[in-house]
Amino acid sequence: MHYRQLGQTGLNVSILSYGASPLGSVFRQTDDNEGIRTVHTALDLGINFIDVSPYYGATKAETVLGKALREIKRDRYYLATKVGQYGEGTFDFSAARVTRSLDESCARLGVDYIDLLQCHDIEFAEADQIVNETLPALLKLKQAGRIGHIGITGLPLKVFPAIIDRVPRGVVETVLSFCRYELNDTALETLLPYFKQKGVGVINASPTGMGLLTERGVPSWHPAPPALVAGSRRAVEYCKAIGADIVKLSIQFAVTHPDIATTLVGSANPDNIRQNIAHAEAPIDYELMARVLEILKPIHNHNFTRGLPANVDPIIA
Ligand code: NAD
Repeated sequence: MHYRQLGQTGLNVSILSYGASPLGSVFRQTDDNEGIRTVHTALDLGINFIDVSPYYGATKAETVLGKALREIKRDRYYLATKVGQYGEGTFDFSAARVTRSLDESCARLGVDYIDLLQCHDIEFAEADQIVNETLPALLKLKQAGRIGHIGITGLPLKVFPAIIDRVPRGVVETVLSFCRYELNDTALETLLPYFKQKGVGVINASPTGMGLLTERGVPSWHPAPPALVAGSRRAVEYCKAIGADIVKLSIQFAVTHPDIATTLVGSANPDNIRQNIAHAEAPIDYELMARVLEILKPIHNHNFTRGLPANVDPIIA
């Protein structure tokens, strides 16, 4: 496993990291013991960064992850969770709620310190509230030694500079972007020089586009428009037909970008995570990658968007 610095946080994170949302059974019904073994496998094979949220499976992902982490020494992993999103369409970025949220997450996770606390999906919040209320509340928690670092997450890319430009350097230490740097969409690249200049660490999530680039395909809640699902399917079917693994290619594509500190991949299956780590370390078949990128060209940078009207990106569906 290779490691990269996460911005200016001092966290030296594995280039492939563990996204714990599947532990909340968001993709399929999962077995908790299998999920726990997946976490242990990830850590045993060199992953040192884990991302979760109270939102995933309505707190289930944090609870199952907490069971897994109880057996693990605290200095073996960096733990990131989130505040502000608690259910379908349920957001609360108030100072009181996010402060209580940290206590609740720590109780579920069985820890008293969170390395990175992130505002979860700020496209659903008023920027004024994040700047004037949420981030100051998180700064207090940081000063009190309850958390190490502060980040923001979101789908539309415009939300990141909209907040970072309004706060002093170093307040927002990381961004978590998802579905915007994968084989079919590289829009995140346009912001990487900006993040570097601002000293902000970049976490890239969902290298398979939350299932788009997998043989199982997307779950029913997936917001991708039909053209994107169909276009991705063509690449999946091509790889299947020639005996290639599209997940391998997706992971390799994401982890090789030097300005992305880490890529989060989710799974509640120990074999999948073992394979994913092997994929991150295996030599890349650039010829195959070029062919798959060609197949995906008609839908390149097509995606979905969401959030308050002021926060959504112009997007090609
Ligand atoms: P992903 O692209 O990692 O896809 C996960 C899907 O791929 C699951 O269905 C999983 O079973 C499947 N998969 C994984 N490895 C596989 C393999 N080897 N073979 C076949 N299928 C495989 O998407 P994700 O799980 O949504 O994203 C990863 C993590 O990133 C999440 O768990 C979460 O921690 C984080 N994330 C955060 C946000 C946010 O903060 N807004 C949004 C999306 C994701």
